[in-house]
Amino acid sequence: MRQPKQARQYATAPLRRFFRPEVRVCPTCQRCLKRYATLSQRTVITLKGPIRLIHRGYRCPNTECASHLRSYRSAAADALALPGFTFGLDIVILVGQLRLGQHRTLDEVHQELSRRLHPFALSISRREVLYLFDAYCTLLRAGAAVADDQEWREQVQHNGGLIISIDGIQPDIGNETVYLVRDVLTTRVLAAANVTSSETAVIKALLAPVVALDLPVLGVISDAQESLVKAIAQLWPESPHQTCQFHYLREAADPIYNLDRSTRKAMRKDIQSKVRETRKQLSHHLEEIQEACQPEQQQEREQLTVLADYALGIQTALNFEGVSPFVYPGIQAYDALTEIELSLQELEKGGLQ
Ligand SMILES: [Zn+2]
Repeated sequence: MRQPKQARQYATAPLRRFFRPEVRVCPTCQRCLKRYATLSQRTVITLKGPIRLIHRGYRCPNTECASHLRSYRSAAADALALPGFTFGLDIVILVGQLRLGQHRTLDEVHQELSRRLHPFALSISRREVLYLFDAYCTLLRAGAAVADDQEWREQVQHNGGLIISIDGIQPDIGNETVYLVRDVLTTRVLAAANVTSSETAVIKALLAPVVALDLPVLGVISDAQESLVKAIAQLWPESPHQTCQFHYLREAADPIYNLDRSTRKAMRKDIQSKVRETRKQLSHHLEEIQEACQPEQQQEREQLTVLADYALGIQTALNFEGVSPFVYPGIQAYDALTEIELSLQELEKGGLQ
């Protein structure tokens, strides 16, 4: 049993991440799945810092559907950490690799982890490291344990089968990859292995215990690595295979996205209040000369209206919202502001006609 822990203090607010199932449509009736609950909301500490994980569960909305009550989870969310763990799977695997792969002592592993967590003002106790090492060993024995678990089999029967997710987790040391095979619906680890090659034959051997379970496979989720695609097509030719590149892409885009966010913040801080003030003045002026009918005042009104449009444009650009991994609000705002600047320069050259 784990000891109840005190709430951790985080130096910076953990990055919030929302997860939804990779499966989008009901495999039984093809209706679009609908969100029905927040399955978990917790903080996971990874090697890249703490993440606030918000995991949404989806269901088939069709009450007539035989799979109406089946709950769909995000394979990517479950891949971040084992159930009940605050430290992420990447840390569990790092502990295992340092201890078994590089034969480091427990104290050395503890030192290494402390060093890695230091930038986030986080710490880990020696006992927690031991606990994570235990988890790593249990993980590699997962296949054997699951085969004899009758209660779990009943759950799978109830779900109508397995949705298998396969994750290759590569620690930043050595050239090994830990493959983790899970059932997305019950979150159980079906197989795990530390391999140095990702050839189709190796992947098939890794999946052999899952084949031996002899349970229906409703679908497979992976990052669509070529050898995986081949192995899955050979083992479960009838099962749909869905890729979840989105999460990998988002992972890759993280550093750019964070930079973009701070750039946008700096731009807003710099420009926002000035633009607001200018807009206020412009609308005030405009009100004042609203009733005027002299030709020169009419011209002034036109000019002020044009300037008010520019100011609105600037403010809109500062409020762009982005969506990782492809839409960067900072870059978009910068482009829009550059356009506005060029246009203003033209205006200055030509004057208002
Ligand atoms: Zn359905």
